[in-house]
Amino acid sequence: MSIISTLPNYINGQWCASSATNYSNAINPATAEILAQVPLSTAAEVNQAVVAASAAFVTWRRTPSTERVQYLFKLKNLLEEHYEDLARTITLECGKTWAESKGEMRRAIENVEVACGIPMMMQGTNLEDIATGIDEMMIRQPLGVAAVICPFNFPGMIPFWFLPYAIATGNTYIVKPSEKVPLTMQKIFQLLEKTSLPKGVINLINGAKEAVDAILDHPQIRAISFVGSTPVAKYIYSRAAANGKRVQCQGGAKNPLIVLPDADIEMTTRIAADSAFGCAGQRCLAASVAITVGNARQSFTEAMAETAKKRVVGNGLDKGVEMGPVIDVRSKTRIEALIQQGIEEGANLLVDGRKANISGYEQGNFIRPTILQDVNPVGEIARTEIFGPVLSLIHLDSIDDAIALVNSGQYGNMACLFTSSGAAARKFRYEAEAGNIGINIGVAAPMAFFPFSGWKESFFGDLHGQSNHAVEFFTQTKVVVERWPSNWSRQF
Ligand code: NAD
Repeated sequence: MSIISTLPNYINGQWCASSATNYSNAINPATAEILAQVPLSTAAEVNQAVVAASAAFVTWRRTPSTERVQYLFKLKNLLEEHYEDLARTITLECGKTWAESKGEMRRAIENVEVACGIPMMMQGTNLEDIATGIDEMMIRQPLGVAAVICPFNFPGMIPFWFLPYAIATGNTYIVKPSEKVPLTMQKIFQLLEKTSLPKGVINLINGAKEAVDAILDHPQIRAISFVGSTPVAKYIYSRAAANGKRVQCQGGAKNPLIVLPDADIEMTTRIAADSAFGCAGQRCLAASVAITVGNARQSFTEAMAETAKKRVVGNGLDKGVEMGPVIDVRSKTRIEALIQQGIEEGANLLVDGRKANISGYEQGNFIRPTILQDVNPVGEIARTEIFGPVLSLIHLDSIDDAIALVNSGQYGNMACLFTSSGAAARKFRYEAEAGNIGINIGVAAPMAFFPFSGWKESFFGDLHGQSNHAVEFFTQTKVVVERWPSNWSRQF
């Protein structure tokens, strides 16, 4: 019998056993094997991390930015060295394919690379002689202790939308991974430890609601980043803001694709299938609704059904597998219930992915690609985030109707258009109410050089993760107005 380990926290440069009395399990979604026991850390442990981070801030903020980024250069090399192992860990605990996990780690590393440019990115502005003999400058200073609360679906990448920028700008940091997928961050913190960052600069707290609430309420935490579902995002945004903190909360999504009659159907189908079924539909940028316009309907519908049926589903570590399981049994049950609800709302179940039986992985949380056709545009299924490999098809007569439907949704994470018309593309880019737009792209994920721009109920706050938005989020501006009359300096 294998012994299941209980994960430690990392506080003040030390791995320490949690004093929690409640635990959850990290479970391999393909096999149902328990991978580790996760302590649901207490408010007292969050406080220990904050005390350590506050003490570390005193000298970390005085460390020149050119020195601070040296730790990130070391981290970049360590992440490259351990790239395959980290990707394998992501697949083990999260279920996506190994290729998808490698893609995820690549995106994480890119954020480290961008944050290595902090000595340039953190610069302020100045103007001589704003009045005669008076100079004015704006400088950026770090905030203090900041924290991130993460979702399950990108255990390697999402903390990196924030962490490298937070510490490079001189803050100290606390990471609270999703209790469903804590192993990737354990490994990444082992690498962070190897960079010899001063103790207390980075801290890892495993846990769930108690730890989150302690983060939201702690008076010494100045800024909080959150990525997860919209109801929790709203809760975190309001509670942290009520406590006077700077907050950025990325929420859920319901991403539409529009397919115009002049789209290249072969390319569109391939890209749309990757968007809807990649990562088993558990991306915040997964296509969830495809709206066909005019005579795109028949060709796209037939091609998508073919592609969906052919997708190879299984354990993401096995060769040739194109789609893994969903995260847990609860999620699988919920997704299957939503498929049933779609049918009850009048949709035709064109491809049924329920009752998936994957030989050798009978305990896994598998759902095969599923397509609901003629989904009611004003029904629940057209609007609810399913977060599984389910694509709803809706047909409309014009691009105007399609954009109107896109804009009627509560979310605004991503919207995509497939066309060969530049004019249609421009109209869509201009009018679509979403923060990430794809034109002949199915997963319009901003690279690390751009902010991850959700809108509407997909985002609460004003500065997003990644790039210059992250630099602004983790710094406060200070304006200095200076006068040095020359007759004050007698020595010259
Ligand atoms: P979730 O909201 O259930 O959990 C996210 C985090 O919040 C976890 O760390 C969890 O421990 C904590 N949490 C959960 N419930 C809480 C509560 N009641 N009080 C305090 N803390 C709580 O999200 P998830 O299921 O892990 O992730 C999937 C969701 O994340 C989807 O909705 C997806 O769209 C969204 N997501 C959004 C983005 C984006 O950029 N907009 C990116 C990835 C995922």
